[in-house]
Amino acid sequence: MIDLRSDTVTAPDEAMREAAATATVGDDVYGEDPTVNELETRAGEILECEAALFVPTGTMANQIAARVHTERGQEIVCEQNSHIYRWELGGLAQHSGLQTRPVAGTDRGVLEPTLIEQHIATGDDHRPGTGLVSLENTHNAAGGTAIAPSAIEAATTAAHAANVPVHLDGARLWNAAVAHDIPVARFTASVDSVMCALSKGLGAPIGSLLAGSVPFIESARRIRKLFGGGWRQAGMVAGPGLEALGNRDGLQADHERAQTLAAGLNEFDGLSAHEPETNIVLVDTDQPAADLVQTFESGGVRCVRFGEYRLRFVTHRDLTDDAIATAIERIDSLL
Ligand SMILES: *Cc1c(COP(=O)(O)O)cnc(C)c1O
Repeated sequence: MIDLRSDTVTAPDEAMREAAATATVGDDVYGEDPTVNELETRAGEILECEAALFVPTGTMANQIAARVHTERGQEIVCEQNSHIYRWELGGLAQHSGLQTRPVAGTDRGVLEPTLIEQHIATGDDHRPGTGLVSLENTHNAAGGTAIAPSAIEAATTAAHAANVPVHLDGARLWNAAVAHDIPVARFTASVDSVMCALSKGLGAPIGSLLAGSVPFIESARRIRKLFGGGWRQAGMVAGPGLEALGNRDGLQADHERAQTLAAGLNEFDGLSAHEPETNIVLVDTDQPAADLVQTFESGGVRCVRFGEYRLRFVTHRDLTDDAIATAIERIDSLL
C-alpha cells in the first residue's frame, strides 16, 4: 500500500527509536526532564522565540494559544478554511468561550491586511471585541501553500495596529521555510505565538511545539495542565522530537516528489492537479471523490477526499521516488 493520505502516517526511524530508548528522563511536571528541557530550548532557538513548550498535539497547542491570548466572549479572526476553525471540534467555543469570525482569504489562504482591518471588532457596548487573529502557514486547505513572511508581517501589522495579538498555526511551517529557502524564524519574527508540528513532515511519532514570549509560555504551561496535558517522563517522546528537528532539510525531497506526483496525475483524463508549493497535492476530479478514494484504495494507493470533487495527496519521508512512480502506474491501470 502506498499511503499518501497525510504526512502523519510515517513510522519513527531507527534514530528516533534509539533516541526514545536512550533518553535521559525525569518528571516534567517538576521541570526535571532534561530531554524535554533540551527540546524546548532548541525549539526556542530555531524559532527565535524566548521560550517554547512541548505539547502532545498541534490541536492542543492551537487551543492553548487561543485561551492564553483571549478573554471569554471575544472573537477570533481566522481564515474560513483554517484548521483551528474547521477541524478542532469548535474547541475555541468549548474551551475558551470564543466566537469565531471566519474570513474568506485569497485562493492561497492569505488574510490580507485590509481583510483583517475590516473584520477586527472593537469592543463597544454591542460588539464582542477581537481577542486574536490566527494565521495558518502552510495553509492546508488551500493546498499546502507556502505563504511568504512579508504576507505574515503585513497581517500582523494590521492586527497589532488594533492591539490584537497574532497566533501562527505553523503545523507545516517547516515546509514553508524550505519552499522559500529561508530560516523558519523569518516567519515567526512578527507574530505573538507559533505552533509547529514535529509529527508531520519531520516524522516524529508524537508532539508539537508552541513558542512565544516567556510570560506567554508560562501561561501556556498552566493552560496545558488545565486542558489535561501535564506530562511526566516525556523525554521518551521528546528524544525522537529532537531527532525530528534535524530532518528539516529533508522536506525538500517531499516537495520534489509532490511535483512529480502532480505532473503524473495531470496526465490522466478526469484528474486535474493543482501546482503544489510544498508536499500537498490537491486534485480536482470529474467523478465523485469518495468513489475514487475507494477505487485507488482497492488498487493499493491511499489518498483522502477533500471535497465532493477533490482529493488530497501528501508526500512524506516514508516514500521513495519509486513509490511515487508506482502510485502513478497503479492509478493509470485503475482509471
Ligand atoms: C495537523 C494540523 C493541526 C493539528 O495538529 P494535530 O497534531 O493533528 O492535532 C493544526 N493545524 C494544521 C494546519 C494542521 O495541518
